[in-house]
Amino acid sequence: MRGERLAAPFWGPDFTDLAALDPEIADVIVDELQRQRSGLQLIASENFTSPAVLAALGSTLSNKYAEGYPGRRYYGGCEVVDRAEVIGIDRARQLFGADHANLQPHSGASANLAVYGAFTKPGDTVLAMSLAQGGHLTHGSHVSFSGMWFSPVHYGVDPVTERIDYDQVRDLARTHRPRMIVAGATAYPRLIDFAAFRSIADEVGAVLWVDAAHFIGLVAGGAIPSPVPHADVVSFTTHKVLRGPRGGMLLCRAEHAKAIDKAVFPMMQGGPLMHAVAAKAVALHEAATPAFGAYAAGVVRNAAALASSLTSHGMRCVSGGTDTHLVLVDLTPVGVTGKQAEQRCDAARITLNKNPIPNDPLPPMTASGIRVGSAAVTTQGMGEPEMAMIGGLIDRAVRSEGADLVTVADEVATLVRAFPAYPGG
Ligand SMILES: *Cc1c(COP(=O)(O)O)cnc(C)c1O
Repeated sequence: MRGERLAAPFWGPDFTDLAALDPEIADVIVDELQRQRSGLQLIASENFTSPAVLAALGSTLSNKYAEGYPGRRYYGGCEVVDRAEVIGIDRARQLFGADHANLQPHSGASANLAVYGAFTKPGDTVLAMSLAQGGHLTHGSHVSFSGMWFSPVHYGVDPVTERIDYDQVRDLARTHRPRMIVAGATAYPRLIDFAAFRSIADEVGAVLWVDAAHFIGLVAGGAIPSPVPHADVVSFTTHKVLRGPRGGMLLCRAEHAKAIDKAVFPMMQGGPLMHAVAAKAVALHEAATPAFGAYAAGVVRNAAALASSLTSHGMRCVSGGTDTHLVLVDLTPVGVTGKQAEQRCDAARITLNKNPIPNDPLPPMTASGIRVGSAAVTTQGMGEPEMAMIGGLIDRAVRSEGADLVTVADEVATLVRAFPAYPGG
């Protein structure tokens, strides 16, 4: 049996060996697993990847240099790792209905750098969502290459609906004639109208780039509409809702395939992380299963349940709720800042992050809101009744000045014990 032949020695020293060889780092790994298991993980960009993905990540594919692409490498001995990349590319194309896929970006930010490399020259105008209203650093922030080397113009959300103002996007596109338009965000809870973006891009002759880092897992599971038919290029991370290894990926139309591949290597990166490429292939295999579809639908249901629970406790959900895995919560009605809420929740073993709300009167390091996501807790097997409980626990933690946090932490511990991450290990 193939599996048997590979079993023990395939990825070399196992964890027992690591504990003997390097107890200091082995301790870190055990403690981090314990931390992940013993609290509520509500950071919207995190998840629990599968043991199969972790096995591929911990494999000897890490040893292989494979600069280039399958069949066109700069080094010899790539015939085996080539297979992992070919399989991964085929799976990505099939799952997303894309002409072309590139699995090599080391991260979401690297994938985005490649998009700029493929389609723009320094100084070009790029129209994207502002960081303050939900965009990502790589969408033109002045502290990122994207703001330093390009000329960003930013759109935001309508102050009343708190949804993307497509009229504003169109007006800005007509005025500034951007080379590229970016749709996608890191703290936007609603569906994005990709067809509207396509029509705006076509009107001004711009490239349409969808940064699907947060929600691509929901697309893979069929829970929300796909950007692929509308976009020239789609970039994403593989470790958020998609639940794969930490890394990035790109999908594009056939006409852009060469430019995208050249932008990833040799323009932005050297050798690919072949263990990560193989792990991405494993994640794509998992994402094509009916079980993943059920998970993706559960993620959306759970986020909606969490939003309504938080609302029932007097918090205000930005835009009135969510269509995705994330909820942006305005804590102004509670009289607590995002920073205070993050610290109090942390003390109660609820891990989430402070987040600016649109037109936030407070500076980003304080912020008026928090961002929560339902992906990790859904992976653990929690459902709508647990979301109602979590809403209540967040409410008590956020409003607590200290004493009650111990009780909340105990209740969190009881809840997560019933839904263990990595059961049995
Ligand atoms: C997370 C994210 C990224 C960056 O991914 P990294 O892997 O952290 O570099 C890029 N764009 C968006 C919209 C994201 O949410």
